[in-house]
Amino acid sequence: MPFSLLKYGLNKDYPFENNADLPKPTVLKDSYDVVIIGGGGHGVSIAYYLAKYHGITNVAILEKNYLGGGNTARNTAVIRSNYLTSEGVKFYTESVKMFKELSNEFDFNIMYSQRGQLTLAHTDAAIRSFRQRVEINKHFGGRSELIDTQQIKELVPTLNMNPAHLPVLAGLWHMDGATARHDAVAWGYAKGATQRGVELHQLTEVEEIIVKDGAVTGVKTNRGTVNCGVAVQAVAGHSSLLAAKAGFRMPILSYPLQAMVTQPVKPFLDPLVSSSALHCYVQQTGRGEVVFGGGSDPYPLYNTRSTLEMKESLLAHAIEMFPFLADLRLMRQWAGITDMTADYSPIMGLSPVKNYYLDAGWGTWGFKATPICGKTIAELIASGGKVPDIIAPFAMDRFDRFTQVNEMGATAASH
Ligand code: FAD
Repeated sequence: MPFSLLKYGLNKDYPFENNADLPKPTVLKDSYDVVIIGGGGHGVSIAYYLAKYHGITNVAILEKNYLGGGNTARNTAVIRSNYLTSEGVKFYTESVKMFKELSNEFDFNIMYSQRGQLTLAHTDAAIRSFRQRVEINKHFGGRSELIDTQQIKELVPTLNMNPAHLPVLAGLWHMDGATARHDAVAWGYAKGATQRGVELHQLTEVEEIIVKDGAVTGVKTNRGTVNCGVAVQAVAGHSSLLAAKAGFRMPILSYPLQAMVTQPVKPFLDPLVSSSALHCYVQQTGRGEVVFGGGSDPYPLYNTRSTLEMKESLLAHAIEMFPFLADLRLMRQWAGITDMTADYSPIMGLSPVKNYYLDAGWGTWGFKATPICGKTIAELIASGGKVPDIIAPFAMDRFDRFTQVNEMGATAASH
């Protein structure tokens, strides 16, 4: 092992000096205009849009571990907009548009790869819901269509058309389905934000939220107290824990979500393929590895261990879809903590604490929202609390008003 790698591995400081892309912040100041809690894709995206489009740069991103090391690093990178509700489709369609331009925006390659997503229908009920999704998608500028078994065989010749005795009857073909390199997305945003003056403080954990007269005034961290005019929490699987520190509850339960990947093989699968009935999705990366994902673990838990039960059930279904996968070796299995809302939609916008904003409830589907969420939360902050129309339906008080945005049918096993 090279000495420099060993030195880096044992070092508590990150070697920013050697990395011109991310300037090292000097000290943690006493006060910032905006504090962003969480240095995942969402946190750095908010910072980037604040700095680049609103000129707000007195901003600190406080990250308890390291940049993009949470769910941003753990997700399977599915990007799509073929949701079920008009609110969801509008929101994710905007995000997909932004993703397509992100490499140009950053002048940094995020390895965006559009290859389409195919969701399999095994029942008449699934076909009916696919028809609805196609129409809503088209209405808001997404590209989806219902395809028959012959078209499916042409798109994915290696697919077993009768997996687990559930014959494939039709498919929802979403041409905009894509993936991107998740680390590159986080690094692109972080680079753009920090080069404009935003400070990224890694190994800086927010331990308390300071609230006076109903408004946030600062945060206590493991490195001292920081005052702020505005704070936003973008902490994925830890949203309810942070909210509790600010003195309110969120309608969220947190579950582990696992994924796994095989050794690399020659290209055999271009589109992303998923089946809700089999609780499984399969995709092949540019390196040739085959990635599998499915549903969350069946019980709420704050633990990122991998389980044999999930491996067995997920692989059994994946092998039903592509029988020759049985010959491959599994290389890695991992998990992240995902914050699930009852309607499978995110929670964005205002909180019960003044000037304390929410970027939360991202469950199993938040990577694809990284650009649009960052852009709109930045607008919310810059406008002093005016909620942009496109995220208004995702307010937390929708659960009091019985105006949920139910995306459960379009989220299961596709993310
Ligand atoms: P994160 O990247 O988790 O960032 C939050 C950060 O907050 C973390 O780095 C954490 O260390 C930090 N933090 C927490 N508490 C504190 C504190 N007190 N102080 C300071 N920092 C703190 N989404 C998709 O769209 N497509 C997919 O295919 C997909 N697949 C997935 C597969 C798996 C296995 C998992 C686990 C998730 C998947 N997701 C997917 C969901 C997606 O990963 C997340 O919704 C998204 O990454 C959330 O981004 P984030 O920046 O909010 O969270």
